Amino acid sequence: MQEQLRLIKKQAEEDLQKCLTMDQLNEVRIKYLGKKGELTQVLRGMGQLPAEERPLIGQLANEIRDSLENSLSLYSEKIKVKELEKKLRAESIDVTLPGIAPDLGRRHPLHLVLQEIKNIFIGMGFTIEEGPEIELDYYNFEALNIPKDHPARDMQDSFYITPEVLLRTHTSPVQARTMEKTRPYVPVKIIVPGKVYRRDDDATHSPMFHQVEGLVIDKNIRFSDLKGTLLNFARQMFGPEQQIRLRPSFFPFTEPSAEVDISCVMCKGAGCRVCKQTGWLEILGSGMVHPRVLEMGGYDPEEVTGFAFGMGVERITMLKYGLDDMRHLFENDVRFLRQF
Ligand SMILES: [Zn+2]
Repeated sequence: MQEQLRLIKKQAEEDLQKCLTMDQLNEVRIKYLGKKGELTQVLRGMGQLPAEERPLIGQLANEIRDSLENSLSLYSEKIKVKELEKKLRAESIDVTLPGIAPDLGRRHPLHLVLQEIKNIFIGMGFTIEEGPEIELDYYNFEALNIPKDHPARDMQDSFYITPEVLLRTHTSPVQARTMEKTRPYVPVKIIVPGKVYRRDDDATHSPMFHQVEGLVIDKNIRFSDLKGTLLNFARQMFGPEQQIRLRPSFFPFTEPSAEVDISCVMCKGAGCRVCKQTGWLEILGSGMVHPRVLEMGGYDPEEVTGFAFGMGVERITMLKYGLDDMRHLFENDVRFLRQF
């Protein structure tokens, strides 16, 4: 019996030495100390021993069990340390490798320019007004002196939702809405930034684009106020050397009306491909508010006068950054957008 116990102890120790993982260690534990383990079997057979042998064998078996349990926990600690080391080695990171920089978002060039336009006009005492993109025909056309059969409607091919409702073709309806809200008080001094929609799609036109409309109404507003405001804007936007040129034009909602050119930002007026050798670039339309529009807005054209202007944000952005195709602005190619 004693011999058998010593043999178990010796074998168990040999088995333990071969263990490399916790799983193998568990197998050894079960093999010797489990319910059907070898040492357990011996301890169970104690009852059949003669009474005088029991204490001695019992003591020996207990010693062997204790020593085996000790060894098991010792090996278990060693294996744990080894497994941890192995895991750490496998997961080690090379801190000298270059990291993956997170992509930072940035503002769209159109928004950068729009913000700049807003800041310039806010600096001149304008406030910002907004209006709906789905607009009534009345505000989009009729209140701006463009009745149903007016040929000017052809200039603005529109997306109609019903015969009386359309996607606004310009930000000008907000003029009419603001006058209705403010009348009979003056001054009105607003800009209206926003999206507008027309049935156009080529290198310089998009079916959706952005405009900034301006409107000033007060006593004694003169054409020179319009010119001074726009010159100030052009110089803040394109540089202090900027010149502007006003050419007679026609808009149904202003009289007189003028197209406004700035000296070419590429050639400084010398003449180049961009300005078609003229030295000038058209950037906006403007004029004195038509008396009929003032009347429909609830103001007395004998009492007050005003001027209005409208510019395309895409056009200004293209000139400012020297872009040749408006569609770049809407394709959402990050390689392009990252440059701003
Ligand atoms: Zn030029």
